[in-house]
Amino acid sequence: MNNKTFPYAYICKKICKIEQANVPIQAKAIQYGIGCFTGIRGFWNSKKKNLYLFRLDDHFKRFEESAKIVGMQFNLNPQRFKKLLIDLIKKNKVKEDVYIRLTLYSRSTQLTPRFDNEGDDLAIYMISLKEYFKTDKGLNVCVSSWRRFDDDVFSVKAKMTGAYASSGLAKTEAIKNGFDEPIFLNRDGKVCETSGANIFGIKDGVVWTPPLSSNILSGITRRSIIPLFRDEMAIPVREENFDRSMLYTFDELFLSGTAAKVTSIISVDRRVIGNGKLGKLTAKVAELYTQAATGELKNYQKWCTPVY
Ligand code: PMP
Repeated sequence: MNNKTFPYAYICKKICKIEQANVPIQAKAIQYGIGCFTGIRGFWNSKKKNLYLFRLDDHFKRFEESAKIVGMQFNLNPQRFKKLLIDLIKKNKVKEDVYIRLTLYSRSTQLTPRFDNEGDDLAIYMISLKEYFKTDKGLNVCVSSWRRFDDDVFSVKAKMTGAYASSGLAKTEAIKNGFDEPIFLNRDGKVCETSGANIFGIKDGVVWTPPLSSNILSGITRRSIIPLFRDEMAIPVREENFDRSMLYTFDELFLSGTAAKVTSIISVDRRVIGNGKLGKLTAKVAELYTQAATGELKNYQKWCTPVY
């Protein structure tokens, strides 16, 4: 994937050129993956000539909670967080769909792997991002041979940088085997999530998605899709565990995530899902999500923070 990186980043409490946003090789972030992160999308509305940041407050809260879970220092309040992002976006003159990556990482160069270091630092960069998955047909996915770790091993909820090595193992295996994306089962053998997105299935007019207790990340997109189904489409959503067998028999299946947005799945382990085409309800909820994220749905304008 070759997405344009915007020229300015934020690191060590300053905006600088991206080439100067560097981390020492001894840093615990590099040596031990000590850090946590989030990804926020800005959607460009060409009619309104404005960029809308999607669910900024919810991202702030999840990021702050991540720091709390792992014990890192995150000393921003929501107002400063918002100003920092908007200043950087304006400095980069962003007028297109953008993906903003924020990482609270350990810059400490001490040898001991700990999360409670002095001088934890926030780094931000941004890339232009329309579609994360380069497909208009839908994804061919597999069930990974790598299991999702339990919360008493690693915290998926904290979105720890180092924990994404697990996603890396599963994604690499999937791609090498000719699939687009892996689906993790958890230790109980229940369907969990993918390397970087939550999962939804639809069967007989009912939407299914694994519950938060199944070791999934509490996706901000997931939190948006659920009310769109329930309140705008009058479709019931069951946040319940389900098995691998059920995956194969859904009428429609899709992923949700900040980068992935809503992306349809057309096969799992080479079994065709539904009629192998983009599902109707998936297409409808994807459309509602796009409208909500670009500030076009009145009831959901609270999710959108205008930049300009
Ligand atoms: N699960 C995992 C493992 C992820 O990395 C992501 C992407 N952040 C998601 C789910 C989806 O979360 P969100 O909608 O907040 O991007």
